[in-house]
Amino acid sequence: MKTDKRFDTIVIHHGYDTKDHLGSLSVPIFQTSTFTFASAEQGEARFAGQEEGYIYSRLANPTVRALEEKVACLEGGEAALAFSSGMAAVSAVLMALTKTNDHIICSQGVYGCTFGLLQLLKNKYHISHDFCAMETEEELRQLIRPETVCIYVETPINPTMKLVDLQMVANVAKEYGIAVVVDNTFCSPYLQRPLSLGCDIVIHSATKYIGGHGDVIAGIAVGTKEKMTEIAKTTQKDVGGVLSPFDAWLLLRGIKTLAVRMERHCDNAEKIVEHLKRHPRVANVYYPADPSHRDYSIYEKQMKRGGGLISFEIQGTKADAQRFLNHLQLVHIAVSLGDTETLIQHPATMTHAVVPEEERKKMGISDSLLRLSVGLEAWEDVWGDLEQALHQL
Ligand SMILES: *Cc1c(COP(=O)(O)O)cnc(C)c1O
Repeated sequence: MKTDKRFDTIVIHHGYDTKDHLGSLSVPIFQTSTFTFASAEQGEARFAGQEEGYIYSRLANPTVRALEEKVACLEGGEAALAFSSGMAAVSAVLMALTKTNDHIICSQGVYGCTFGLLQLLKNKYHISHDFCAMETEEELRQLIRPETVCIYVETPINPTMKLVDLQMVANVAKEYGIAVVVDNTFCSPYLQRPLSLGCDIVIHSATKYIGGHGDVIAGIAVGTKEKMTEIAKTTQKDVGGVLSPFDAWLLLRGIKTLAVRMERHCDNAEKIVEHLKRHPRVANVYYPADPSHRDYSIYEKQMKRGGGLISFEIQGTKADAQRFLNHLQLVHIAVSLGDTETLIQHPATMTHAVVPEEERKKMGISDSLLRLSVGLEAWEDVWGDLEQALHQL
């Protein structure tokens, strides 16, 4: 649906009309598995697609639909589909786009389970893949084969915070008719909108910034009406990783404050980066909006602000990194990101432990690298905790 409203207004109002629901300000939770038909003929018409309406909640549900319409609008896409997890969204999209003997090109460094899924597709279904740093157009072109059907990109890349130029990738892919899929989890639509840069499908782990409160696992994919209808009727419906109405409601509740939260995440992260960079026990700090970041020029082209994630290396070994984590008091040791609480994790032994060491080194994940998801607390308290733990080293 087209709208002339601004992001901060769309995120609150779009996709729901109180008039349709007895004036209820909050979207009702349609906690139902199935929908009754007024007659046998109506059931026939719904199944035949001749009449609009709900049938069964694995196919569509009004609470889930409200969320899908909102996120589609925020990403500037025609349609969205919600899933029971980010990985359900990633797997449904990749399974819908590929068949045996096809080829995928993937950014060098992806979410650990996406890496695992690519292995599974290769081992079980002969869908091969190559990793590509995507630093130059030539490097990308060299990997394109007649069987290449999809370029899968994560940017910023988890957890190294390297960036991929989405417009460059989209332009190359267009020449060959290859679909570009972007995992936009780290940015949320508030900071980056890949569809506006020519990419085809956007995926989110809605578990992160979209939900924002660390209380739900969910995923969402956005693209053209045609593509999303195809996915809805195939890998979403038949594999079945759909979102529950209650979880959709939690996301509808969380997403209303997305714009406000993202601004605060960014404000806090900027302060923490400033202090980390000055600390003698910190070797390297990776944050896209830092002018000394290797991909700062890409950041300027495609991101609104730097986001809430910071990666940094402390001076020392894996044992030092673990010692540092064990001294933290306010900051929680946990994977996931985008929550109100500040979370920190050790990629080499946690999110990326499944990636073979050699591959990990290629991705730039050292044993002293830590990934911080800056929350919404007072930044001074977060920094105070990090500083006291650094001091103990
Ligand atoms: C968390 C995450 C996923 C997977 O999402 P789940 O909701 O945990 O299934 C995929 N990509 C990125 C970048 C993530 O951070």
